[in-house]
Amino acid sequence: MFSKSMTDASNRDLYYVVSAITNEEINKNWLRSEKYYQKQKPKQVYYLSMEFLIGRLLESNLLNSGMWEVCNKTLTKLGFEPARVYKEEHDPGLGNGGLGRLAACFLDSMATMQYPGHGYGIRYRYGMFEQRFINGYQTELPDYWLKDPYPWETRKPEEAFEIEFGGKVHMLKRDDGTLEFKYEDTDKVLAMPYDVPVVGYQNKVVNTLRLWSAEPVMTGEEKQHDESQYYQQLEHHHSIEQISGILYPDDSSEEGKRLRIKQQYFLVAASLRKIINDYKANVRQSLLHLPEKVVIQINDTHPSLAIPELMRILMDEEGFSWEKSWEITTKVFAYTNHTILSEALEKWPIAMIQSLVPRLYMIIDEINERFCQSIWLDHPALRDNIHEMAVIADGQIHMARLAIVGSFSVNGVAKLHTQILKTQEMKNFYTLYPSKFNNKTNGITHRRWLLMTNPRLATLISDTIGPRWVHRPRELTHLLRYAKDRPLLDKLDQIKQENKKELAHYIHQTTGIKVDEQSIFDVQIKRLHEYKRQLLNIFHVIYLYNELKENPHLDITPRTFIFGAKAAPSYYFAKEVIKLINTVASIVNYDPDVKHKLKVVFLENYNVSLAEKIIPAADLSEQISTAGKEASGTGNMKMMMNGALTIGTLDGANIEIKNLVGDPNIFIFGLRSEEVFEYYQNGEYKANEFYQNDERITQILHQLRDGHFGHQGAEFKDIYYHILSTNDPYFILKDFEAYVETQQLVDQAYRTKGKWLSKSLVNIAHSGKFSSDRTIQEYATGIWKINQYKT
Ligand SMILES: *Cc1c(COP(=O)(O)O)cnc(C)c1O
Repeated sequence: MFSKSMTDASNRDLYYVVSAITNEEINKNWLRSEKYYQKQKPKQVYYLSMEFLIGRLLESNLLNSGMWEVCNKTLTKLGFEPARVYKEEHDPGLGNGGLGRLAACFLDSMATMQYPGHGYGIRYRYGMFEQRFINGYQTELPDYWLKDPYPWETRKPEEAFEIEFGGKVHMLKRDDGTLEFKYEDTDKVLAMPYDVPVVGYQNKVVNTLRLWSAEPVMTGEEKQHDESQYYQQLEHHHSIEQISGILYPDDSSEEGKRLRIKQQYFLVAASLRKIINDYKANVRQSLLHLPEKVVIQINDTHPSLAIPELMRILMDEEGFSWEKSWEITTKVFAYTNHTILSEALEKWPIAMIQSLVPRLYMIIDEINERFCQSIWLDHPALRDNIHEMAVIADGQIHMARLAIVGSFSVNGVAKLHTQILKTQEMKNFYTLYPSKFNNKTNGITHRRWLLMTNPRLATLISDTIGPRWVHRPRELTHLLRYAKDRPLLDKLDQIKQENKKELAHYIHQTTGIKVDEQSIFDVQIKRLHEYKRQLLNIFHVIYLYNELKENPHLDITPRTFIFGAKAAPSYYFAKEVIKLINTVASIVNYDPDVKHKLKVVFLENYNVSLAEKIIPAADLSEQISTAGKEASGTGNMKMMMNGALTIGTLDGANIEIKNLVGDPNIFIFGLRSEEVFEYYQNGEYKANEFYQNDERITQILHQLRDGHFGHQGAEFKDIYYHILSTNDPYFILKDFEAYVETQQLVDQAYRTKGKWLSKSLVNIAHSGKFSSDRTIQEYATGIWKINQYKT
């Protein structure tokens, strides 16, 4: 490939060479899989998502293609360090966090379980920003991940579509009295597909992740002779390219932005075109039968414009009546809800939708009219609630309501979350459509998150219970027989120790901090958000620091607090918390009174690749969200699977983890979600009382107020004022005591190594339930009604 001799080749060269070899193998199977779909015409699922956080692909593609070990050996033999070669790949940050990573795990599981399922997303030119700390503050650098060729994508210009935005809609009456809708003066954008293979685990199945890129539409003239036109319209072209220009780096909040709506419509319009074209080419039946062959899962409300877009296609292009179109549409879509945080529920101003997608607005308006009327007429008990249920209310379009009305399935992502949807957030809709609601507890692919990232542990497991767990992760429970087997537990210990040593090395290299490899690796890695309560964690650190300053001989088990988190660039409070953690780190790590017992490490640029380094080394997994706020969490599952014990609230999937491993094998603390809701309702929580009455809290808050941390004096006053003036809506002060006490239990438990290891093994043994293979199995049989296929 590079006309170089092996001795002159760089790691980068080898990365491209190995990728090319892997692609050769993949492409054979990709073609076969596509032919199979074309011939057998199975019902297929399309997973629409604004985010796919796929991580680096070379190693996982090698693993899934069955070539990983031989490649490792060969590279080593040739004098290369495999890890260095793999590290050359730029980790594509096409997502924010959990939601995008879930989509990636689902693709892996669908291909592995031989389900005909594909992803559709956007090929953002700039993915998630790269985070750097300057002076302890987060700064954001653009992530131009396509700077070097990306070997996993194939551009498919022959499958590009024109997408239309804006313009005017004219209604014409046809001779038979039906209406025809004509669009004028629209802006046209070319949706260019780039396909990425999704490789099943050693089964020769390759599905597709199709990522759309926005390009200017070249007119015939532009193409043929006058290229100068292109430059005259540079500005215009630039605005078109912006549609797939950036990933919105914001998780858990929604801002009314025209570009975001354009991105959503772009994804939806291009994907539906492709889905319908394929249906027509392969199935060759009336679109009346579409729901027999196509199911579309919409990942949160972001792609929910697909519902009116399919209505538009069926009516305006295919000539179906409203009633027929609605019947088809509502049998095709299934919606996954990911959050009940009100700031994250998408609502778009009418005027924005009207100007960007005028015909879709007309359709949404009609959906709303008919929906409200049907409640009025058929569900008089809900009449008083129409305002809270209407798709259009208060000048805004409520996307979650549109998604519920237009789908046949609405699912939450963990038992508690689904329960909250049914009984609180979407209570009225649940009354109206009880059978639509269902739960699908999230999962993670154990191939990437255990086999690939923790090969030592994976090997130990296979040596102990045989290799069947790789295909049937639930069989990890066979490990339970060894929960008291000292030789095995010692091996488990040794592996954790080696992983910690590697992470310690990385920490030293990247931050200069030397950590105690014997200390508890206490890990909180996730997006930075108030509800996730990184602040509670750092308050605990400050508390320990204060205790040790008071009494340097205090007997505590040495700990290394490890953080990884990006804050949305506009999220001021979250960025203050980052600065606080970095500041506490800079004090604690160099204070001779405490530095041998406490270390605080905030690793820059948390992403999938960094998660893969940290998770195998975690002893303690921090899952401390305010109960009721974290829909599921998946970081909790990754760390459990790698032998970390969880300290957490009864929130999201933590509850399901607790129910599996049992109370002695998890550290649960804090308010329960019912209590949180009760406080919200009765307003009886008084943060001030905790500030006044708990000396530990008083001290910490005063240290923040008085500039005890931070050289610029008033650095953290804002945190102090924010907590007290908002009455601590995330109950950090309320849960502080329980958290500290539970951390003391962790400290004690870690001292009895054998017992700790036994708990660790029990966690690994029960983690198979959280393989995304199980989740996908549930989606396939419960929602999608699709079949596995035999190759
Ligand atoms: C798993 C994962 C997440 C989700 O973590 P939670 O703790 O569930 O919020 C976010 N980002 C990355 C990079 C991940 O791998």
